[in-house]
Amino acid sequence: MIIHHLENTNSILNKFIAEIRDVNTQKDTLRFRRNIERIGEILGYELSKTLCFSPSLVETPLGSKHIQLPTNDIVLCSILRAGLPLHQGLLNYFDNAENAFISAYRNHPNNDEAFEIIVEYFASPSIDNKTVLLADPMLATGKSLAAVLAGIKKHGTPKEIHIVCVIGSSEGVEFIKNHFPENTHLWIAAIDDQLNSKGYIVPGLGDAGDLAFGPKL
Ligand code: URA
Repeated sequence: MIIHHLENTNSILNKFIAEIRDVNTQKDTLRFRRNIERIGEILGYELSKTLCFSPSLVETPLGSKHIQLPTNDIVLCSILRAGLPLHQGLLNYFDNAENAFISAYRNHPNNDEAFEIIVEYFASPSIDNKTVLLADPMLATGKSLAAVLAGIKKHGTPKEIHIVCVIGSSEGVEFIKNHFPENTHLWIAAIDDQLNSKGYIVPGLGDAGDLAFGPKL
């Protein structure tokens, strides 16, 4: 796996990460969603540098100009519901992309802290030979991403996969390294050291889905 850990380089991205982590700023849910979207835009911009480009000619009112344009057939695939603002950020830049949505939730069969990932809803175009951008804001255990990979494989064999995450745990990063093809890229804004017993990233930011869309039952 090729890991691009963006907080290692100082940039305006740090401000957006600080705001989504901050308990005070989190109260502004519009700002929370918009910051996740902005992080998606930045990660999308960075990953665009690794796409395939070919020469093109653009006509202006005053002449013409050669320019290199990306040629990849992109499918944006997001995990509901927390992935939606990150998906929107990527879609702002890859506006011609096809889109796939998948639901994955944690089921606690014994009502204790042990959980399995249940994938139910999956709406996707063919991903055969396409560039798949897999958006999951919180890479905690990595089990959801592994379950999603098993699901998307039923829709074809992608040319390449770019996993796009906001915050991950070191454990989750290790887990997905062993479950995804070697040429997979991981674009991640921040990596934290710990996971708590409930599978939440520490210090992380809390529950990204609840912070973006409100609490659920
Ligand atoms: N999902 C979240 O929203 N937060 C975590 O810390 C882990 C998974």
